[in-house]
Amino acid sequence: MTARIIDGKAIADKLRGEIAARVAEFRAQTRIIPHLTAVLTGDDPASAVYVRNKHLACEKAGIGSTVVRLSAETSQTELLATVERFNRDPAVHGILVQLPLPKQINPQVILDAVTPLKDVDCFHPENVGRLVQGRPRFLPCTPSGVQQLLIHEKVPVAGSHVVIIGRSEIVGKPLASMFMQKGMAADATVTVCHSRTRDLVSITKTADILVAAIGVAEFVKAEMVKPGAVVIDVGINRVGEKLVGDVDFAGVSQVASAITPVPRGVGPMTITMLLENTLTAARLQG
Ligand code: NAD
Repeated sequence: MTARIIDGKAIADKLRGEIAARVAEFRAQTRIIPHLTAVLTGDDPASAVYVRNKHLACEKAGIGSTVVRLSAETSQTELLATVERFNRDPAVHGILVQLPLPKQINPQVILDAVTPLKDVDCFHPENVGRLVQGRPRFLPCTPSGVQQLLIHEKVPVAGSHVVIIGRSEIVGKPLASMFMQKGMAADATVTVCHSRTRDLVSITKTADILVAAIGVAEFVKAEMVKPGAVVIDVGINRVGEKLVGDVDFAGVSQVASAITPVPRGVGPMTITMLLENTLTAARLQG
């Protein structure tokens, strides 16, 4: 079997076009320009690329975007004051604090300080709580991007066994919660695996849909995948000059029925869902 390649870039482009049209309509009706402010602290080169891509995507969709750059020496108090300034600014609808933060700053303190109505990453406990209860205000960007890929690819999710490798607050945990809700690309039976899981392969082999969010290059091998499974690779790992996922693409695409590549898989969807959330935030505050 050679897997169908799920073209995340094409799906993301289509969705971004639809979002841009809704942004234009919202702007015409309300005279409000949805605005995202990203705070980039320190000089991590990957973070700078992510923030730049988010900024360009906003501009293309008709969403205002500001990038605030703070030095690697910024104190927690200073960053907190910056977040609070944007919390109070009525022209800013979404606040994104790019992670990771320099080591002198506790990310939890900062993320908790973002006012829930502007929390377009869906990290605030109030928004996470709403998500778990099945009444979300925002959907977290990467998990929501994964669900959108499955919807666009018409992958049946209801009743299927979804196995997620990784239990992070950003990907694994919220994605598991979303897959177990009632609704589109949901109603699944969900298993979450992590670094302490015993006999991982025996579990991954039973997945109809396998999601890898581990952060280890090419961790998922063909022998871990059930023939015909759909494999979603969230991982982004730099190996030399190349970006590779958490899935051994060459091997696994011989076994799976469909697979996301890296790059051009989940990555472009994450930014797309951020645009969606910024529009939602503007509607909520408009
Ligand atoms: P993380 O480091 O916070 O979590 C990794 C998870 O993998 C942990 O829960 C850990 O228990 C699990 N894990 C580690 N080793 C394991 C093992 N041997 N067996 C089973 N489980 C194991 O990572 P994260 O923030 O969720 O990111 C995961 C990957 O996804 C990274 O490569 C990251 O760059 C990428 N990522 C991509 C996007 C995107 O937009 N495509 C967004 C967020 C993260």
